[in-house]
Amino acid sequence: MPVNRQILFASRPKGWVTEDNFRLVESPAPSPAERQVLVRNHWLSLDPYMRGRMDEAGSYAKGAELGQVMVGGTVGEVIESKSPRFGPGDMVVGALGWQEYGVSDAGALVKIDTSIAPASCYLGILGMPGVTAWVGLLDIAQPKEGETVVVSAASGAVGSVVGQLAKIRGCRAVGIAGGAPKCAYVTGELGFDACIDYKAGSLYADLRAAAPRGIDVCFENVGGEIFDTVLQLMNPFSRITVCGLVSQYNLTEPYAVKNLRSVLVNRVRMQGFIVSDRLDLWPRAKAELAGWLKAGRLRYRECVAQGLEAAPTAFIGMLRGWNFGKQLVKLI
Ligand code: NDP
Repeated sequence: MPVNRQILFASRPKGWVTEDNFRLVESPAPSPAERQVLVRNHWLSLDPYMRGRMDEAGSYAKGAELGQVMVGGTVGEVIESKSPRFGPGDMVVGALGWQEYGVSDAGALVKIDTSIAPASCYLGILGMPGVTAWVGLLDIAQPKEGETVVVSAASGAVGSVVGQLAKIRGCRAVGIAGGAPKCAYVTGELGFDACIDYKAGSLYADLRAAAPRGIDVCFENVGGEIFDTVLQLMNPFSRITVCGLVSQYNLTEPYAVKNLRSVLVNRVRMQGFIVSDRLDLWPRAKAELAGWLKAGRLRYRECVAQGLEAAPTAFIGMLRGWNFGKQLVKLI
């Protein structure tokens, strides 16, 4: 059996995650039991939700237990199968965690088609982040042609898709991102109408200029002061999709929102969602995303860390905004 390198959840962070919260170990790769499959992981996805699992209380899902392999989405190749559904060489997406090999029940894996897009896309634009953008924007916010859609963390895995879907729906897409290079990418390559650098220090004025008719849809990925500023520009009967609050995940004292009054005065509909609650929409979302990708109407960017040992630093970096595009780890 080959050696399996794994990253375990070693200690709970108090505030910001540090490298000490993880431990790299080696053990022989496991063997599959009946109806199970052994997979060699090629790609590991790093996602903000993992920070919530590191808290004892968890978030919408139960907190992870110390000493376990860190949870995470993976794409890899079937090495050995005790299920008629998969054979050696099949490429599959699953949730095998931060490790080079993993055993999974066959029912928890989905075969991917690498003739449509490279394997890594099934962790990004054709995977959970892409479906999150689709569900949160098209099913929950339901933007209409001509409306203004604002999305924070606009150059990231979810935000980049949100703005492009808004353009496909005929909306004005306004992104918010950290720094000039990210904003240039969001407008220049992704085709948003405008992107505001929240680090430039004039967010309210810049947002007002970029959304002269006010905001009809806010797709919220960040929370904190950015969300509070967007709230001030919401139109009557507008919608807010609360997808994530990444600026808050490492704080011990959460930001207190000041402009909630706007929700009342403007009769704003605000809804949070978790993409795994809407498994019924995944097949349609994935099919539409794949169609638009093939037609050249969707673009994406990946930020790739090399080797399992790079995962903790890359994860911390993503929570600090050092990633530029979907954060992945290339395992082989
Ligand atoms: P990203 O690829 O967007 O990476 C995170 C980005 O967040 C960073 O690049 C950074 O961008 C931004 N960020 C981090 N800290 C701050 C801060 N203090 N202020 C402003 N921006 C910050 O991640 P994802 O696309 O994977 O996730 C985006 C959001 O979607 C997260 O909140 C996540 O939890 C949520 N999510 C929710 C799901 C659901 O089912 N509800 C499913 C998947 C994701 P920048 O440099 O521009 O600041």
